[in-house]
Amino acid sequence: MRMILVGPPGAGKGTQAARLVDTFRIPHISSGDMFRAEVKSGSDLGKQLDSLMKTGGLVPDDMTIAMVLKRLTAPDTAQGFMLDGFPRTRPQAEALDVALTNAGVKLDAVVLIKVPDALLEERAVHRRSDPETGKIYHLKYNPPPPDVAGRLVHRPDDTKEAVDKRVTKYHSETAPIIPFYTQKGILKEVDGVGDPDAITERIKAVLKS
Ligand code: ADP
Ligand code: ADP
Repeated sequence: MRMILVGPPGAGKGTQAARLVDTFRIPHISSGDMFRAEVKSGSDLGKQLDSLMKTGGLVPDDMTIAMVLKRLTAPDTAQGFMLDGFPRTRPQAEALDVALTNAGVKLDAVVLIKVPDALLEERAVHRRSDPETGKIYHLKYNPPPPDVAGRLVHRPDDTKEAVDKRVTKYHSETAPIIPFYTQKGILKEVDGVGDPDAITERIKAVLKS
C-alpha cells in the first residue's frame, strides 16, 4: 500500500496514520516529525526551521522535497509507505509524481480527512504529544494517562495565531493538490468528525472500494 494522508492541521492525520500503519505494516513518514527531529537536534538548519515553523509558515519546497524523496529511497519503503503531511503544495505533489514514475511505482490512494475549519483550532491548541512513545493526546477528547502527564509536549506552533495561519496556508497552498489527485482517480474523501475508531473504519472502507 502506497498512500498519502491529506488534511488541514489538526484533522487527525497523525492519529489515523499511527493506527493504519499497524494494519498495513508500512512505514509512517511524517514530514512534520522529520522537521521536528531536526529542530530537536539543535543544528543550524534546525534553528532556522524552528523560527519558520513556530509562526505557522511552510518550509521551502526544495528542502522539503529533497528530504522526503531521500526518505522514500530507504529499503523499508519497498513494499509501501504512508505519507503524512507531504505533499503540501502543488510543486511537492508534482515532484513526488516524477520520482514515483521514475521508480516505476504508483500511488494506491490519497485520503483526504475532511474537518470543518471551526473545529481545527480547538483540536490543535489542546494537542499534546508524548516524546517517549510518539503518542498523540488531546486534553479533552483523548486525555493522557496521569503517569505521562509530566513529560508531554505542547508544540510551539499549536497556538491560536499559528494554527490560524496554518489553516489559511492549507487553503491557499495545500488544497490545490486535491484536484491533482482527483484527476488521477485516486482521491478518497473521509469525514474526519466523530470517534477516531469510526474514522479509522471509514478510511479502511474507502481504501477497499
Ligand atoms: P499538522 O500535523 O498540524 O498538519 P505537521 O506536523 O504536518 O503539522 O507540520 C508541522 C510544520 O512542519 C508545518 O506547519 C510546516 O512548517 C512544516 N512542514 C511539515 N510538512 C511540510 C511540507 N510538506 N511542506 C512544507 N512545510 C512542512
Ligand atoms: P494532524 O496530524 O492532522 O495535525 P492529529 O492526529 O495530531 O492531527 O490530531 C490533532 C488533535 O486532535 C490531537 O490532540 C488529537 O488527539 C485530536 N484528535 C484526533 N482525531 C480526533 C477526533 N476524531 N476527534 C477529536 N479529536 C481528535
